[in-house]
Amino acid sequence: MVVIPPKVRTYCPKCKAYTEHRVSIVRPKQRGGGKSKGQRRAERNTKGYGNKGRYSRRPNSQRKMKSKTTQKIDMRLECAQCKRKLVRSRPRARKVEMGKL
Ligand SMILES: [Zn+2]
Repeated sequence: MVVIPPKVRTYCPKCKAYTEHRVSIVRPKQRGGGKSKGQRRAERNTKGYGNKGRYSRRPNSQRKMKSKTTQKIDMRLECAQCKRKLVRSRPRARKVEMGKL
């Protein structure tokens, strides 16, 4: 488990000084890139009439293997003086908790 402090003193690029920052935790969204060849083919198959090309396959949840047991988290820092927001990412952790004041 990772405990994250609610306030951090760190460099603010706008103030150009070390200032106090408020911390909040956000789980980043999974970004989808461009569509793969298989994805384009599946979209072509599922529109219109005819065999949808999916009845011989198992459902997606059984085909896809889950390999990661942890999630990445983002730390959002907000400068106490100028309210500028920064994003810091943190290494993967199974459980993340905010520390007490
Ligand atoms: Zn600042």
